[in-house]
Amino acid sequence: MPKAPLPQNEQERLAALRSYHILDTATEKDFDDLTQLASAICGTPISLISLVDKDRQWFKSRYGLKASETDRAWSFCAHAINRPDELLEVEDASADARFKDNALVTGDPHIVFYAGVPLVDEDGFALGSLCVIDRERRKLSNEQQSALKILGAQVISKLKLRKKLVELEAAGTRIQKLNTLLTAKEREAMQIIEHAPIAMALHTGEEMNIRFANKMMLAAWGKDELVFGMPFNKALPELAALDFPRTMRQVYRKGIAYEQTEEHMSYVHNGVLKDFYYNYGFTPLKLADGTVWAILNTAVDVTNIVRSRETVKLAEERMRLAVQSAELGTWYIDANTREFTSSARLKEMFGFYADEDMSYEASINQIPDEHRYTVIQAVEAAITKGEAFDIEYPIVGYRDNILRWVRATGKVYPASENGQAPFFSGTMLDITERKQDDQRKNDFIGMVSHELKSPLTSLSGFLQILQLKAGKASDSFTHSMATKSLNQVKKMTALINGFLNTSRLGTGKIQLNKQSFAIDELIAETLNDTSLIQDTHSLIYEPGGHVLIEADRDKVGNVITNLLSNAIKYSPKGGEVKISCSAQKGMATVKIKDSGLGISQADQDKLFDRFYRVQSLETNHIAGHGIGLYLCAEIIQAHGGKIGVESELGKGSAFWFELPIV
Ligand code: ADP
Repeated sequence: MPKAPLPQNEQERLAALRSYHILDTATEKDFDDLTQLASAICGTPISLISLVDKDRQWFKSRYGLKASETDRAWSFCAHAINRPDELLEVEDASADARFKDNALVTGDPHIVFYAGVPLVDEDGFALGSLCVIDRERRKLSNEQQSALKILGAQVISKLKLRKKLVELEAAGTRIQKLNTLLTAKEREAMQIIEHAPIAMALHTGEEMNIRFANKMMLAAWGKDELVFGMPFNKALPELAALDFPRTMRQVYRKGIAYEQTEEHMSYVHNGVLKDFYYNYGFTPLKLADGTVWAILNTAVDVTNIVRSRETVKLAEERMRLAVQSAELGTWYIDANTREFTSSARLKEMFGFYADEDMSYEASINQIPDEHRYTVIQAVEAAITKGEAFDIEYPIVGYRDNILRWVRATGKVYPASENGQAPFFSGTMLDITERKQDDQRKNDFIGMVSHELKSPLTSLSGFLQILQLKAGKASDSFTHSMATKSLNQVKKMTALINGFLNTSRLGTGKIQLNKQSFAIDELIAETLNDTSLIQDTHSLIYEPGGHVLIEADRDKVGNVITNLLSNAIKYSPKGGEVKISCSAQKGMATVKIKDSGLGISQADQDKLFDRFYRVQSLETNHIAGHGIGLYLCAEIIQAHGGKIGVESELGKGSAFWFELPIV
């Protein structure tokens, strides 16, 4: 049995058929009426609207037949569509070579007669056919053939109509979906604008009516939503006075945007006249044909930024004036490249001309040998480890050979966010005069103390003789007076020794007479001596065993005496002073703890400076010179040890020092 050949345009024909979205849809009365009519007109028991799909024929309407589709191989219609313009009429299928073996002929529904008119759409594609079928031989009359063709045309127009409807429906749903999407997008956009961190408003018409303003714009205006719909002049008379509507109108007319940055403006905001700085702009919003339909007004309040920049500028200016009037020299070192820049004043301090070049090396060369290394080390430690830089050293002028003392303080500034490399910078102050003053003071103290020493030694000798004699003569009164006088002379000697040491210290003149001794024994001795001359406080010793150190015994004794007498001096009568001594990690630690006045953190930092005394109501009536702790620190440091204090105001202090164990 020969199969119906495939039409030449089969691919396109199938695509056209699909575009009707009709395959496998439910039966429809419109189409069923047409098959029923075809059957009635042609007098056949069966009539079908058959659509020829890729591998099957599917019946949109079937009159007198149960099956909804059959294999394309058995399809009569597949033959019919090959001649789109002709009606295919087979009077006796069993006698037709094309159909006699056809399963629909040999078996159910036992087709004998077939007549089909191709269903051709407006593009010329034969989608299938409208056919009539009988189980008996028959031939259609001319009228029946014409009627079948007319009915075929009806099927096609119904198919077309149906397609349009389906398309319309699809378009309708699409529009509906788009609308929903648009409403959602509009809502989102409005929400974004409403909460944008920039003030926005929309103005329309020559009067710059306020169509909309977001929260930030309303806040900037100091208004609420009541201004919506109002002309600019009426809604915002305070701002209208600044000529905004006129500028906006020009943007509106010319269609060219207008922008201002950091514009200063004063206007009444919530009833108060205030100053503001704004970055603002008026942007024309245009229709497709270029006409402006609205003005978008945007503004950013930059008042704080401008103000803080002005404050920084002012601070910089003040700083510059201060540096100038204090005659401070300044320098700058790029921490990465080590490029060195210095001010004119700094160059002068190093004995260079203010306008000549001075390299870092050249400046270092002017520092005397014994100080040079310390300075280089301090600079390196500051740059590489960020250590504090505050150092005093002498300089010999490059051209004038004058010796100057300077104090240099600096800081390392880490890399900044705006790309500025890390740098080390600071100021330098000429302290020659202060150093000379100190020297003169030292010389004077040294000289006076020295002169006082010999009369005191004689006085001490005489008193000892007196004490001895009174003892022998059992003159207890004179003996006690001589003892008391001797104690006072001892105190005075200690004081004068202190003054002498002060004048020698700091100039590298301190001399240590080191010897090996047990520090615990020295503490016991010192405590004993102190107990002899005071009975107001209880001194409690907590020894921590035998600890041998190598140090200047007298000077370390001075340190202990000093710390002890301070503990007594700065704590109320009847108080306790605890002394402890311990050894660990190669160091001997001595601690003297009182429960007296205590020292604030700020004072603790300066306590070991020369002549520093705490200024307070409690300490003002206690006599002193502020050199005791300075001396202690100098002595301990000369031994390579450490000294410090732990204290809290009102709760007492614990002074401690550490010295290396033998
Ligand atoms: P001076 O006692 O002669 O004033 P020092 O150098 O010994 O000088 O002490 C410096 C300052 O430190 C004192 O003026 C005092 O204010 C404070 N000070 C020292 N020791 C103590 C202490 N144990 N308790 C409270 N304050 C102290």
